[in-house]
Amino acid sequence: MDKRKQDNHHIIPLSRLSKGGRKRKNNIVVVDKHRHAIFHELVSNRTPEEVIEMLNEEFFGGKYEIILRRKKE
Ligand SMILES: [Zn+2]
Repeated sequence: MDKRKQDNHHIIPLSRLSKGGRKRKNNIVVVDKHRHAIFHELVSNRTPEEVIEMLNEEFFGGKYEIILRRKKE
C-alpha cells in the first residue's frame, strides 16, 4: 500500500486513555487513510466495544448478543 495513503490508527483512542495508558503497547494499526477518516466520522472516539455496540444498536436492530474480548498477547 502507498504509505502516503496510510495512517496510524489507535485501537483505543488516546483521548480515552489515562496519561499513563497512552504508552500502551500494540495499540496502533496501519490503515487506509480514506477509510480511517470515514471510520472516525462514523464512530468518533469510541472504544472497540462501544463501536460494536453502536453498530449493533443502530444498524443491526440490537438483535445480536455481542461477546468481544481482546486476544491475549
Ligand atoms: Zn484512528
